Amino acid sequence: MKQIVVAALPRGPLGAEHFRLEEVPAPVPGPGQVHLRVILMSIDAANRSWLQGATYRAAVQAGDVMPTYAICEVIDSRADGLAPGDIVAAEAGWCEELCLPAGDVQKMPDLRPLSHLLSVYGIAGKTAWHGLVGVGRLVAGETVLVSAAAGSVGGYVGQIARAMGCRAVGIAGGPEKCRWVVEELGFDACLDYRDPGFAKALRAACPDGVDVYFDNVGGRVLETALFLMNLRGRVVCCGAISQYDGEAPSGPRNLPGLVVVKRLRMEGFIVMDHAADDPKALRDLTRWVDDGRIKVVEDIAEGLDQAPAALIGLLAGDNRGKRMVRLAPDPA
Ligand code: NDP
Repeated sequence: MKQIVVAALPRGPLGAEHFRLEEVPAPVPGPGQVHLRVILMSIDAANRSWLQGATYRAAVQAGDVMPTYAICEVIDSRADGLAPGDIVAAEAGWCEELCLPAGDVQKMPDLRPLSHLLSVYGIAGKTAWHGLVGVGRLVAGETVLVSAAAGSVGGYVGQIARAMGCRAVGIAGGPEKCRWVVEELGFDACLDYRDPGFAKALRAACPDGVDVYFDNVGGRVLETALFLMNLRGRVVCCGAISQYDGEAPSGPRNLPGLVVVKRLRMEGFIVMDHAADDPKALRDLTRWVDDGRIKVVEDIAEGLDQAPAALIGLLAGDNRGKRMVRLAPDPA
């Protein structure tokens, strides 16, 4: 079977040279293990941060199979409770097949298409819901600002905000992307952070200030957003993508001054911390998808060998919605 390993850890921007495709014998399950066929691999900005050092998981080392969250089909089982044909989610790798202890996989509902388990009903949708509702404590009528608005998490943040009766303002790279965020995802406005007039345009798009800023990027964009926060606003710290791919970390210069003066609450979170509330999140997300208030946007590349380009491209912003790589069709 084929797998992709990390050939060398990147010191600057990620490139194809940091990965190597290998052919290895297919794994054989041991007692208590399941043998999995990878169907869909999630491609996430966080994958890049794992190559920088330890985060909420151990750092990836040169020579490791590149890890990924994936949706897999059980093709053989030597464990109770899991049988061939079951659909599971697991931390897998950029590989066609793998064996894992049964305790390391999570049985998933067999809903179709399976890609929705990685997008709206997966980490992307849940991160957006938990961040806005659990951490941001959003109230109808408020203004929500979100960065990386055309991406997988950000796209749901704005749509959830609208579904909850709030004004949704996005930040994304380039005028065309910004137009798409408004026209396709239904945001009230979207501003291009690369435009020299960005700060002024953002202020104009948020005439009543910002109550919740959902920060996916950190750095200069966070600094600009902090100036627009209302008294007792909430800054939901979800990620810092501007600092993952080799750029020297550039923290906002207005911290902690503005946090004090405006009595802001700035709180980081990891989606898994909120698992107890997943059923509530999934109930809302299902309702909003079914009634058309949330549009599911997926960006699916085909074939294992496309994984490096999919991740490199995501970091450069060439995705719209949830990026993933398909290795096999949804089982019949
Ligand atoms: P996205 O699908 O949002 O894609 C990333 C986007 O980030 C790109 O499309 C690009 O769009 C934008 N971007 C890239 N570089 C920069 C930059 N320098 N400044 C501003 N924007 C940039 O990725 P994900 O949905 O996977 O991740 C979004 C964020 O959510 C990440 O920070 C990730 O780490 C975080 N996350 C956090 C979780 C948690 O539990 N806390 C769980 C899941 C994700 P553009 O063209 O607009 O620049």
